[in-house]
Amino acid sequence: MCFNCYPVLKLTVRMNRLKAFCHLVELINDVSIQIAPIEAFLLAHCTGAYTAYDLCYIMERTFEWQSDYAQSFLRELEIKFRLFIDFKDVPVLVSAARYAPQDFLYHAEGEIGGRYETPVDMTLILTHRCNFRCVYCYNSSGQGAGADELSTGQWVSLIEEARDMGVLKCTLTSGEPLIHQGFFDILAALQRSNIITYICTNGSLITEETVRKLKDLDVPLIQISLDSPISTVHGTVTDSRSSFPVIIKAIRMLVEAEIKVYIKSLMLPETAPEAAALIDLCHNEGVSNIDSTAMIYVIMAVRISAFFSAPVRRHPLPRWSRRRKRYSAIRCLSILSRVRGIGRQKTMCLSAAGL
Ligand code: SF4
Repeated sequence: MCFNCYPVLKLTVRMNRLKAFCHLVELINDVSIQIAPIEAFLLAHCTGAYTAYDLCYIMERTFEWQSDYAQSFLRELEIKFRLFIDFKDVPVLVSAARYAPQDFLYHAEGEIGGRYETPVDMTLILTHRCNFRCVYCYNSSGQGAGADELSTGQWVSLIEEARDMGVLKCTLTSGEPLIHQGFFDILAALQRSNIITYICTNGSLITEETVRKLKDLDVPLIQISLDSPISTVHGTVTDSRSSFPVIIKAIRMLVEAEIKVYIKSLMLPETAPEAAALIDLCHNEGVSNIDSTAMIYVIMAVRISAFFSAPVRRHPLPRWSRRRKRYSAIRCLSILSRVRGIGRQKTMCLSAAGL
């Protein structure tokens, strides 16, 4: 399959949602088959706006698939649905989304035929306070930015409400989420609600006690921002000169406690020359994944993602990362110029100040 092509569901195709399956009909040839909801979910994204690469990424993010699995799933679909899909070389600009993808998401448990009427995941911005002053911070974060924060009790009731609505996944971010005094109570509420939780932190407040509490709450993975393997460069970019050794220590403690560490790194003019060294450092420290975002895209990306959690597209790996095959998950991300579809429907973003 050419992953740069734009799959488009033919205008002569209709999809219906049945109780346990979906129905796919091609009107001209009068062909009708039953398909799985997950297939319908993918087909609903075949609007001509996304490349096959984008679709892989959407499936990876939505169902937490490995990229190899998403790609093989798409290859199988290409064979199975050849009659129903056109593969274009360029985006189909006129195509409005004909189906809401979430209509084809079924609850994993409970009644067959139930479906997600609420977002599948949510992002909680616990506070705008942060002990860093990163040059690229888009969150107006600062130590005095906590005036309108929700209390722990308010967050807990919001989480319970989200659970009752059917939300399954949550990203805890901020500012620096560990600054919120109720962080662990909020995390515990998410765990009690059986909501899969993803924590994004700058890593500077992780102590032995923090690691123990994270372990007690069965947190499997934590994302830490690390932009450079050089202490002074990291300090300059984040305006927190003593933080680098603390973050490295935090990574070691987490890895030792068998909590996976996922490094998020921003490639700036200052940090790009040491990108390969950063990968070496992460590899040596037992980090499991690195995501690298190029600065050129980030301003647009963060602005849009603040509202839509926009899907992002993988770019060909830069030469330095191709050389280092040890990290299959290294990604260079850029924002899709077309923001529609899954982000708006799948994700809601709740801000401490915005509620
Ligand atoms: S760590 Fe995150 S929230 Fe804090 S200043 Fe840096 S970018 Fe902003």
